[in-house]
Amino acid sequence: MILYMQEGVFMSQKHMREKGAFHSPQIPKTLRSDILIIGGGPAGMAAAISAKRSNSKLDVVLIEKNEIMGRKLRATGNGRCNITNVNAEGFSEVTSFLSSLGIVTKTNDNGFLYPVSESAADVSELLELRLKQLGVKVYTGVTAMEVSYASDKTEFVTSVSMGGASSQGRLANALKCTVYSSALVIAAGGKSAPVYGSTGEGYRWLRGLGHTVTRLVPSLAPIECGGADLSKLSGTRVRAEAKLFKNGEEIHRECGEVLFTKFGLSGICVFNLSKMMKFEPGDTFSNFEIELDLCRDVELGEVLKRAAERVSNTNNEFLESEKLVDVFKTVFKEGAALEIIRQAGFKADEDSLVLSSEEARDKLVASASALKFQPTGQKGWKEAQCTSGGVVESEVDQSSFESNLVKNLYIVGEVLDYDGFCGGYNLNHAFLSGKRAGAAVADRI
Ligand SMILES: Cc1cc2nc3c(=O)[nH]c(=O)nc-3n(C[C@H](O)[C@H](O)[C@H](O)COP(=O)(O)OP(=O)(O)OC[C@H]3O[C@@H](n4cnc5c(N)ncnc54)[C@H](O)[C@@H]3O)c2cc1C
Repeated sequence: MILYMQEGVFMSQKHMREKGAFHSPQIPKTLRSDILIIGGGPAGMAAAISAKRSNSKLDVVLIEKNEIMGRKLRATGNGRCNITNVNAEGFSEVTSFLSSLGIVTKTNDNGFLYPVSESAADVSELLELRLKQLGVKVYTGVTAMEVSYASDKTEFVTSVSMGGASSQGRLANALKCTVYSSALVIAAGGKSAPVYGSTGEGYRWLRGLGHTVTRLVPSLAPIECGGADLSKLSGTRVRAEAKLFKNGEEIHRECGEVLFTKFGLSGICVFNLSKMMKFEPGDTFSNFEIELDLCRDVELGEVLKRAAERVSNTNNEFLESEKLVDVFKTVFKEGAALEIIRQAGFKADEDSLVLSSEEARDKLVASASALKFQPTGQKGWKEAQCTSGGVVESEVDQSSFESNLVKNLYIVGEVLDYDGFCGGYNLNHAFLSGKRAGAAVADRI
């Protein structure tokens, strides 16, 4: 259930509505507009702003099934909103668009951009303010149900329902309305994180309008793993270089923070590995393997050699013997140290005297440099940040995001077959496609 913070208290959507906290006007039974935009996420809001800015005389209507706009946007970057990336396509176009709206950003050492306030809610609220100032007609709590192209091909007909969309798209006490529009922008998102509103209806409408939708797979998600003793590792965070192998061949590597959970691996670099797990017919998760190199910040061989000298010295000032796991203290967290020891073939309570053997030290360094995990699955839509697959790029003009198959139909954001790495690429794509589509549609109708 989505909870809203109101007057310092968390409330459900139902309570908020009863308190009159949502202020969207009631959508009329029949509505005519120049442009209808379905979806109040970053792509839809960018499209509406851009269209109205390009031609203020146009009647632009935006409908959003949630009671508030930008639910997913507000959750991005752990609430901090990693809004774009210096390496993203169309980066300067996106940043000048954001800046023209008053969104002030800062860049971190990796080239990731965030609003200076590090508040995703601020970004969403500022976009909403701009929509209002420009005169876009925004209706929230309104769900598009069906979309069609009138038989004379002059307008789109969208049937909508008002009243309490759940994350599964069921509607309680729904009130039906019809919106006629000369142009239609579909910005309804993908299938990832459906709790925020995007439940994949856009794919169904677009297939109905003749578009090809490629296989839809959760992307940027935690990876379930076997082959490791996760009971001890769970809850541990490490800095690592993570490598993904398919059939023994390395296909992707990157450095970052890895979080061990009770089911497997999580964290940004693991999400990026999940995006690279591409399945050919007949492939299973057993075709893949993950290795973590935990030795990027430490010369482990030297540490172990010094420890070996200490523990095997008969004049050792520390009279009591120490366990192997204690040698790793201040180098690795205990859960990681125990797994390194286990994968090197030693017991959890092994005595540190074992370090006097060079072969043992080599085994420990090898284990810590390539800690192995066997993927067994991937967390599904609920936990994925993005959808891999969607409407094929070749069916959409990349400069205007107009459909190449249906005139005056525009397709933007996650519903398209685009999924970028973590780091601001996905929001960049949503803003870029929305901004371009808005300008193009205002120019062409
Ligand atoms: C937890 C999380 C963190 C993320 N962090 C980042 C990040 O830091 N940086 C980054 O680049 N990307 C991030 N992403 C990905 C990013 O949020 C998406 O790529 C982006 O929101 C896609 O924008 P969109 O407008 O296409 O879709 P959405 O943001 O999903 O918006 C679509 C909107 O359409 C509405 N809608 C759907 N169906 C209907 C309907 N039938 N009628 C009316 N309205 C409808 C939905 O309610 C929704 O508000 C994150 C994703 C998640 C889940």
